[in-house]
Amino acid sequence: MTEKIYYKKEAGRSFSRKEFLNYLEKKTLETIQKWDMFDRDSKIAVAVSGGKDSTTLIHILDKIEREFPSELFMIHLDEGIQNYSDRSKLIVKETAKNLGVPLYVKSIKERFGVTIDEVATVSAKKRRHSPCAYCGVWRRWLMNHLANKVHADRLVTAHCLDDEAQTILLNVLRGSLTGLLRLKTRPKSIPGVVPHVKPFRSLPEKEITLYAQLKDLDYNDKACPHAEEGMRWGIRQWLYRQEERYPGTYHAILNIGTKISRRLTASDQRKEIRNCEVCGYPASGGALCQAHKFKRRFQELLG
Ligand code: SF4
Ligand SMILES: [Zn+2]
Repeated sequence: MTEKIYYKKEAGRSFSRKEFLNYLEKKTLETIQKWDMFDRDSKIAVAVSGGKDSTTLIHILDKIEREFPSELFMIHLDEGIQNYSDRSKLIVKETAKNLGVPLYVKSIKERFGVTIDEVATVSAKKRRHSPCAYCGVWRRWLMNHLANKVHADRLVTAHCLDDEAQTILLNVLRGSLTGLLRLKTRPKSIPGVVPHVKPFRSLPEKEITLYAQLKDLDYNDKACPHAEEGMRWGIRQWLYRQEERYPGTYHAILNIGTKISRRLTASDQRKEIRNCEVCGYPASGGALCQAHKFKRRFQELLG
């Protein structure tokens, strides 16, 4: 009899290694199809950080997309975080080489003149925004920029069920409709913004980790040294405990967040969309996009 290696409580069934790998790949494909994430011939830019989620995603997408006339690219952003970013970059380069997928790399320092470690030092002294606030905004800008550069028509990230539930709560706590709007499963194309999709949005992190381990994928298993400095960390811990106590919490939050975001339209932001006067990408509520607002904010912190 084949050995069972995973028991899924919600489904009430056990999986052998082979069954589990097939299950996760099938679930990913179903999510892509359910939300109409790609066209058959999409040019897909996959953001790969080198962590377990994005490393698993590029392996599964590489397998799925072989059946279609689509094109895959990998993009990687170097945050400039000591004992973390260097290892991630090496792993991503190796993954790209092994899969034969073209890779494009950009660093935050190159584009915004400062590393996330430098931001962390200054922010801690001045007791201002956590490094994650800068890192998130600058990474989003760079991902979109690189996706535009390779003429991709989709930008894909490995955000999973746990991440999505955290993001929904974060946006509610911050009162951010813009953040909720970004959760749309097949966002409308805005000139300059490559539509962003998340094929892992309904998969729990623990299942993605299990896939990566069963496949013996090489990924950066170190946590970012700044992870505990952001607001997300507390929400992550709290949600994890809720899910343990009340299974189904993640899914319930994802469902309500999806329903809300589908009803929202750009006009709900009540902010005028202009083009950033530095980069030309869309900017809501001012002359600068978020990335360049943060760049200016950091320069002001330096005085
Ligand atoms: S934990 Fe924060 S600083 Fe570290 S990579 Fe993530 S967003 Fe960036
Ligand atoms: Zn800008």
